[in-house]
This record gives sequence, C-alpha cells and structure tokens, in this order.
Amino acid sequence: MERLKYISPTLTERTTKQMQIINWDDYFMAVAYISSLRSKDPRTQVGACIVNKSNRIISTGYNGMPNNCEDSKMPWQNKEGLEGKYLYVVHSEQNAILHAKVDLTDCIIYTTLFPCNECSKSIIQSGISEIVYLSDKYNNTEQTIASRFILDMAGVKYRQLISNTKIEVNFNNITQN
Ligand code: ZN
Repeated sequence: MERLKYISPTLTERTTKQMQIINWDDYFMAVAYISSLRSKDPRTQVGACIVNKSNRIISTGYNGMPNNCEDSKMPWQNKEGLEGKYLYVVHSEQNAILHAKVDLTDCIIYTTLFPCNECSKSIIQSGISEIVYLSDKYNNTEQTIASRFILDMAGVKYRQLISNTKIEVNFNNITQN
C-alpha cells in the first residue's frame, strides 16, 4: 500500500530506487497548504511556510484570531467595521513571521495566496527576499496592487507556483503497514 500518493507531472528528481520524491517547491507549498487547514475562517483558509536558504522550514502560519482571543466570541463575517473579521484576523504570513525565532534575512515565504499590502510590509521589514504563491485571485484589488508596488520597489522577488501536483495523505496507509 502506498504511504503517500504523489502525482507530479513536473517531477524532476528521482531516487536511486526510482521512487518519486516531492520537489522542494511542492513540498513547502504543501506544508503551507496543510497549515491553512487549521484556519477557522469559514470563507478563506490561507497558509504560509517560511524556509531558509538551506531548505529548512523556519516557521509556518495560517490566518486566525490573535492568541487568547476566543474564536467563538470573535466575528468571522466578511464585512467592514467592528462586526466583521477584517479588523481582528492575523494573516498567515504575519503569523509565520511573528512565530519565527530566527532572523529571516533572505528567507523565502511560501503562501497559498498572494500577500496583501499589510503582509507585504511585514515581509519586506523581516528581510524575506522571495515570495512563492499559489492563488492570485485578488490580483486587481487595491491591496494587491499596493502590495506589488512596494515589493517591486523593495526588490522582493515573487513568483507563482505553477504545479499540477496532487498529494493525497492517508494516515491509514501508514498505520496499517
Ligand atoms: Zn495579509
């Protein structure tokens, strides 16, 4: 039984046993994606994973309410003002940056959604030098346009991960072997 089902048309690496192994971009984006599954946001789950130049994971994050703010007592609606979530939620990139315990200079952040302007400010200030993202669904919003503007000016690179990879994790496949 397969422990992990991994289908990657863009596969570039093979082990000596001719096993398929996951490439770095897919691996880190998968960690970002799995992190997003922790988010309680009913509409948008976003995950992030920060990696250093040695391909070591430094930190992860997902969007959620600040620590010690009880989720059930916080507003999750998509509306402006005190009744909506926007004034309270900490974005995945911010959480990943704030949870990191080391200097982030020249690290890469993988994120399932292109960062908003607030997160881009934090990314720039942290010293992260590259962003790899999956979705760009808010491409034309003011936040994203402002984001690109400051990232370009600050010299932070960004690229979309184009991948048709499918990864299926089934814990039963591991425990039954
Ligand atoms: Zn953000």
